[in-house]
Amino acid sequence: MNSGHSTLVFSAPPLPTVPVKGTDLQFPVNRIFCVGRNYEAHAKEMGMAVDREAPFYFIKSASSIVASGATVPYAPGTSNLHHEMELVVAIGQAAFCITEEAAPKVIYGYACGLDMTRRDLQFKARDKGRPWDLGKNFENSAVISEIVRVSESGLIDSGDISLSVNEEQRQYGNISDLIWNVPELIADLSKYYHLQPGDLLYTGTPAGVGPVEPGDVITGSIDQVGEIEFTIAS
Ligand code: MN
Repeated sequence: MNSGHSTLVFSAPPLPTVPVKGTDLQFPVNRIFCVGRNYEAHAKEMGMAVDREAPFYFIKSASSIVASGATVPYAPGTSNLHHEMELVVAIGQAAFCITEEAAPKVIYGYACGLDMTRRDLQFKARDKGRPWDLGKNFENSAVISEIVRVSESGLIDSGDISLSVNEEQRQYGNISDLIWNVPELIADLSKYYHLQPGDLLYTGTPAGVGPVEPGDVITGSIDQVGEIEFTIAS
């Protein structure tokens, strides 16, 4: 590309990847889009009205990905680290300005995800009208399970989604309760971004979010998708 400058000044960081269930394939992660307040009961517990005009998004860095099964330290800079259990959609084809009807074709598969959140920093930013980055985009904040291919799972538009902490259920909902469903989200996002293979979409969390403490074991599941586990080091 630039023959005069061909040597990297340091080793490039490793490409974040996610294993594909039942294969030896790895899904390379490009971008991580996340949807805010996409279940009515969760919007209410956040003290917010549901906005049905349009979905809204925030982004996590690809480097915030961490695999299900990991144990990580309690996140720095917060005293209110929260779990958010979410259906994740893995994009497998380029898409720009596509319709809802065309959206299912660009889905590679699905995963269980945790949108780990520094709630104190998110609320501080929200209340001052500032960006959410400190609250949402930090190392090990995008937990993800193996990806199940859509050819195995079928299209996911309903099914239980739940999360427990130390085996006590905290979050429960149904994918059919998404305010903006998956095809609607993909079509909408594709108006603003040239979606690429490798993009992930965290679709929002049902009610019951709450704090975790050092030593907690978080487990979650989504019907037809799989399970996820994440431990906060003690
Ligand atoms: Mn979320």
